[in-house]
Amino acid sequence: MQEIHHYIDGTESKGTSGRFADIYNPATGEVQAKVALATKDELDAAVEKAAAAQVGWAATNPQRRARVMMKFAALINENMDVLAELVSREHGKTLPDARGDVQRGLEVVEVCMGAPNMLKGEYMNDGGPGIDLYSMRQPLGVVAGITPFNFPAMIPLWKMAPALASGNAMILKPSERCPSTSMKLAELLKEAGLPDGVLQVVNGDKEVVDAILDNETVQAVGFVGSTPIAQYIYGRAATNGKRAQCFGGAKNHMIIMPDADMDKAADALVGAGFGAAGERCMAISVAVPVGDKTADALIERLIPRIEALKVGPYTAGDDVDFGPVITAQAKARINGLVDSGVEQGAKLVIDGRNFSLQGYEDGFFVGPSLFDNVTPDMDIYKEEIFGPVLSQVRAKSYDEALDLIMKNNYGNGTSIFTADGDTARDFANKVNVGMVGINFPIPVPLSYFTFGGWKKSAFGDLNQYGPDAFRFYTKTKTVTARWFSGIKEGGEFAFKAMD
Ligand code: NAD
Repeated sequence: MQEIHHYIDGTESKGTSGRFADIYNPATGEVQAKVALATKDELDAAVEKAAAAQVGWAATNPQRRARVMMKFAALINENMDVLAELVSREHGKTLPDARGDVQRGLEVVEVCMGAPNMLKGEYMNDGGPGIDLYSMRQPLGVVAGITPFNFPAMIPLWKMAPALASGNAMILKPSERCPSTSMKLAELLKEAGLPDGVLQVVNGDKEVVDAILDNETVQAVGFVGSTPIAQYIYGRAATNGKRAQCFGGAKNHMIIMPDADMDKAADALVGAGFGAAGERCMAISVAVPVGDKTADALIERLIPRIEALKVGPYTAGDDVDFGPVITAQAKARINGLVDSGVEQGAKLVIDGRNFSLQGYEDGFFVGPSLFDNVTPDMDIYKEEIFGPVLSQVRAKSYDEALDLIMKNNYGNGTSIFTADGDTARDFANKVNVGMVGINFPIPVPLSYFTFGGWKKSAFGDLNQYGPDAFRFYTKTKTVTARWFSGIKEGGEFAFKAMD
C-alpha cells in the first residue's frame, strides 16, 4: 500500500504520528493509498523551519523570485499529463477536466511572474515642505494554505504562487483525500529553484488545521472548503490575530430569460451542472427560467442532453462526461438529498440514484438527476448538494428570479442567459453575488482579475489571486521622511588646512 507523507525542507519526510487517512480510488471504491496525518508537534517543527528559510527568501530580490515562478510554470507545462493523472487518480474527474484544473492554477503562476510589478509601493515627493512619503509591501512571514478536495492542483497553486512570489514561506495543508498533486507541485518548485523549507506540505486533518490556527508564527491563513469549516477557521484565525481569507460553499443560480438562446442555455446548464459530477464551487445547481413557457422549453431540451451523458472512470477515455463523486459518504448524502426532494414534493424528472456501472459496482458513481418545480423551502434548494443534481425553480418574472438569488445565503457565482443587454446589465449591477456570467455559465475570472464570493461563500475581505492576493500576502509599511539641511548648505567646500 502506497504511503504519502509530508514534504519538509525539500524532501519527502516520514510522518511520526502513526495516524493515516485512506485515499480511495473513487471509481472502484478501493483504498489505493494512505496519507500520514501530522501532529501539532510535527506542524510546529515545520513552521519553525519555514520561518528560518523565509528570511533568505524574503531577502531574495522580487525579480529572482519571479524567475522561480517562470521555471515553475515551464515545469508544470512539461508535467501537465503527470499532474492531470494524479488529479484524476485521487479525485476521479476526467483527464480533460483534470488538465483544466492544472491549467487554471498555472495561469495564476503566470501572473506571479509579474510579481515585482505588483509589489511596488507608492511614492509622494514633497508631501509637506521637504517631506517625502513612500510605502513598501513586505511579506508577512510564514503563511498557511488549507485546501479542499475538488481542485487538487488549481487551489493549492492559487495559494502558493502569490504567497511565495511575495516573499513568504508557506505551510500547505492539502485535502487528505487528494494530497499527491500538492506533493508533486512541491517537488517541481524545488526543481524550479525554490529554497528548501520555503514551501512545506504538511498533510493531515482537523488536528493539524487547529495547530496551524494556534501557531503564533503563522501570520495568515488562506482557506478554501465548505462554509461551516470556512466560518470556523475564519473565527479561530482572527481570534488568534491572524489575517484570514476563507472561501466557502455555494448555490449558484442561472436565470434563463424568455429571449435566451434555449439550446445554448441548455448546453451551458448541462456542462455547468454536471461537469466534475457537480463537485465545483462554481457549478450551476439551480436553473431559474422566467415564465412557464421558458421552463417547459428548457426542460424539453435538458432531458435528452442529460440522458445522453456518459458517466464513467477517467480511464475509460475522453468521451466520459463525468466521473464518480469523492467518497461513499458523499454518494449516500447526495442520494439522500434526492430522496428528500421527492418527499418534499419536487418533480424528479431524471433519477440518477440507482446508477450502476458494470465492473465498477463498488465505485462512488451517482447518475445525473434533474428536478423541476423546486421551491426555496426544500432541502435540495437550501443545501449545497455538491453532486450531479440540477434543480429547476420556476420564476414568474425577472424580478422574482433576481429576488430569489438576492435572498439566497450563498453568493459565489451566478449567471444570466438573455439576448437583452439592458436586462443583463441590470442583473450584473444589482445582484449580490461575487462573480457574474452573462451568457456564460461558470464565470471564474481570469487570473489577472480576482476570485471570490459574497455572503456565506467567503469570510474575509480580499479575494484570491490577481492584485488582491498580493495585498493579502503582504503588509504595507509607510515611511514619512524628512532630511534636515546637510552638506549642501552647511558643508565646507574649500580645501583648508587642518588646524
Ligand atoms: P471541507 O470543508 O470538508 O475541507 C476543506 C479543508 O478543511 C480540508 O483541507 C480539510 O482537511 C479541512 N477540514 C475539514 N474539516 C475540518 C474541521 N472540522 N476542522 C478543521 N479543518 C477541517 O471541504 P471539501 O469537502 O474538501 O471541499 C468541498 C467544499 O469546498 C464545497 O463546499 C465547495 O463549494 C467548497 N469550495 C469552495 C471554493 C471557493 O472558492 N469558494 C472552491 C472550491 C471548493
